[in-house]
Amino acid sequence: MQNKEEILFSAAENEYRESLRAFLDGVAANKIEREIYEQDFYPRELYGKLGDAGFLAPVLPVECGGMGKLAYEAILADELGAACVPLAWIHSTSSYAYATIARYGNEEQKGKYLPALKSGAAIGAIAITEPGAGSDVMRIKTSAERNGDAYRICGEKRNITNGSKADVLLVWAITSPEVDPARGMSVFIMESDAKGFEVERDYKLLGGFPGTVNSYLRFDDVQIPGRNMLGGENEGAKVMFDELAIERALYAAMLVGEARPILELAVDYSRDREQFGTAISRFEGISFKIADMATKLEAAKLMVYHTVRLIDAGFDAEQESAMAKLLASEAFYEVAHNTVQILGGRGLTDEYPAEWAFRMARLSMIPAGTNEIMRFIVQREVYKMYKGKSGQKKSNVRKA
Ligand SMILES: Cc1cc2nc3c(=O)[nH]c(=O)nc-3n(C[C@H](O)[C@H](O)[C@H](O)COP(=O)(O)OP(=O)(O)OC[C@H]3O[C@@H](n4cnc5c(N)ncnc54)[C@H](O)[C@@H]3O)c2cc1C
Repeated sequence: MQNKEEILFSAAENEYRESLRAFLDGVAANKIEREIYEQDFYPRELYGKLGDAGFLAPVLPVECGGMGKLAYEAILADELGAACVPLAWIHSTSSYAYATIARYGNEEQKGKYLPALKSGAAIGAIAITEPGAGSDVMRIKTSAERNGDAYRICGEKRNITNGSKADVLLVWAITSPEVDPARGMSVFIMESDAKGFEVERDYKLLGGFPGTVNSYLRFDDVQIPGRNMLGGENEGAKVMFDELAIERALYAAMLVGEARPILELAVDYSRDREQFGTAISRFEGISFKIADMATKLEAAKLMVYHTVRLIDAGFDAEQESAMAKLLASEAFYEVAHNTVQILGGRGLTDEYPAEWAFRMARLSMIPAGTNEIMRFIVQREVYKMYKGKSGQKKSNVRKA
């Protein structure tokens, strides 16, 4: 008989997920997560093992050693989120970087950067946000001035995941200051040993899991060869919007994964914990919370996989990726919040992952675009879609 996973996923996808789970069990990823929680170290070595075993970068085209589908990358983000949070965070921006290089890179760039990112030998980062440009990404000030065959990059980037650990950074900068930034920015592939690049500090974040890194970066006259421009000159905004759609879908997949073991913890605990002579799961005040948590998490999961399939089919999924990120972060928050409540006083202790899940779920509403910005994108697309009696419906066709 078919199981439900066979309806949603292909045989090859289920096989990939199963072998990934077996690998993560084999390396005791979940036990390492606990060690990182206690000792705060960056699991670079474990990330390398994941690459050596061939699990990284399934989104890459087959000729680059991948499986050519973002759906596999979402499965990877989801499973890493469930097994080992800091490992999932290394994968997060690395995967956004390699997916973007695969999409926009020329043969030389792909040949130079993808093998190391795929093997896990190199870690990737995405550098968009600046002190003056957060939600309003078009207001970046980092400049890239042409200097012969190179560009001189000057500026600052804030809140960059993996920023101080990354080997390869995608850096957005203004190349034509005289025009609107949407037509005047470009993106560069920068190696972290470039002269003039400096990590000012790593932040301690509310909800930042030990072993994850979030950095403030400075670019003081960093010379980047012109051949490292990704996409065309002044085409950085288009690359950014495509990157953000992929980022939001994969980020949401990671959150769905992070929430799964927390829901499971709430179910197990409520079944075992007795008060008033019975398991607390028998009180609707508890079991209805479980129902809401499971329902919202399932909806988020379906939205994630629907979104990556749209992207794989060539659609512009800006609206769906915003919906996926919104749903996944809010589902995760509800799961974590209710799990703390279901565990009572023990939910607040460090005996269980509920306390850190709650803090992490709070954090999840800000990266990859805040939830207000996700709502802004969704409503904008909905108003375009339904123009009223006299208006025309927005076209829903695939990109050429
Ligand atoms: C853990 C973490 C990891 C991150 N990783 C990266 C990374 O790897 N690379 C990177 O480039 N960036 C990264 N960021 C930055 C992140 O994308 C920004 O923090 C986010 O986009 C918000 O920008 P901001 O912090 O400047 O807030 P602001 O844009 O200043 O927003 C402040 C408040 O105003 C609200 N707001 C702003 N505009 C509107 C509007 N139009 N309508 C309604 N409300 C609005 C926001 O929702 C928010 O509540 C990360 C952030 C965090 C916390």
